[in-house]
Amino acid sequence: MQRTKGYDPEPMSVPPLFQSPSRPVAMLRWFLAKYLWPQSLLWIGLAAVVYHFATPGLSRFATLGIDDVGVLWLRNAALMLVVIGGQHWWLHIRKSQGVDFKYEARWLATNRTSFLFNNQTRDNMFFTLVSGGLVAAVYESVMFRLYAAESIPQLSSLWAIAVMTIATFWIEGVHFYANHRLLHVDPLYKWAHALHHRNVNTGPWSGISMHPIEHVLYLSLPLVFLVVPGSPFIITFCMVYLMISPSPSHSGFDRFKLGEAGNVHGGDYFHNLHHRYFEVNYGMLLLPLDKWFGTFHDGSVEAHEQMKDRRRSIPDQQGGELDDSPV
Ligand SMILES: [Zn+2]
Ligand SMILES: [Zn+2]
Repeated sequence: MQRTKGYDPEPMSVPPLFQSPSRPVAMLRWFLAKYLWPQSLLWIGLAAVVYHFATPGLSRFATLGIDDVGVLWLRNAALMLVVIGGQHWWLHIRKSQGVDFKYEARWLATNRTSFLFNNQTRDNMFFTLVSGGLVAAVYESVMFRLYAAESIPQLSSLWAIAVMTIATFWIEGVHFYANHRLLHVDPLYKWAHALHHRNVNTGPWSGISMHPIEHVLYLSLPLVFLVVPGSPFIITFCMVYLMISPSPSHSGFDRFKLGEAGNVHGGDYFHNLHHRYFEVNYGMLLLPLDKWFGTFHDGSVEAHEQMKDRRRSIPDQQGGELDDSPV
């Protein structure tokens, strides 16, 4: 499906720490003012609300049953229906900002047989709520069971938990790159990841619309805390972050308009280019592993030409569009 040209942001640069010369102070400013505020802090705040008001205490997990997983699955589904469904309603049903800041001028697919129920949104909702919500619930309840049994290392100081929560963004930078790169290797790509990549033009529900095999890999971040000291809150944060943060990044809109108040950062141009061209930008901009491994596409004409050269030298690529210009 060829791209219907929409909004193209300015080319991206890697964070200041990874530029040459490296600028650690500018990096700190970038991390606090651009990365954490406001979107990433929102995920931490949302996780705190979910953990304190919508998650059973550890005592429930002294034993583990189907009902414990079921409770978390229902909680996940409700959370995603409100947060992801809210974005979908605002941007794609109410069309509150039309196609302003939208990467593609066309809307999500209806009447296309490659999607379940012939409808991209219903298909994406199905895989997100049924498979994504369940796999996340299984990981969270198993980790809670291990904390309840005091079988794994647990942080107790609030400061240590806060630092580890921030560190989780970086840990996920490595974890996401590694499992995503693996998913692009056949037969895993064919069996699992191709399902996510049917979404070239993405919407909020496309974020974790994945094959169950991909959910098992993508949502496995909590397993890091089998060896690294963590806490039940950090596990809930991992799940909220992994379930919810892909919804704005796949929303299809680079910025969200807030009426008279202007607009705020919305989508993720870096990952949008991955959906458009497949074999670039496997990771995330926070930790530019793609730059180091030669698969970085910053949205510039030069990066596009480099990608085309790479593709010519490697036959049988997995797909993706090769329009003449990224802009
Ligand atoms: Zn994606
Ligand atoms: Zn991919």
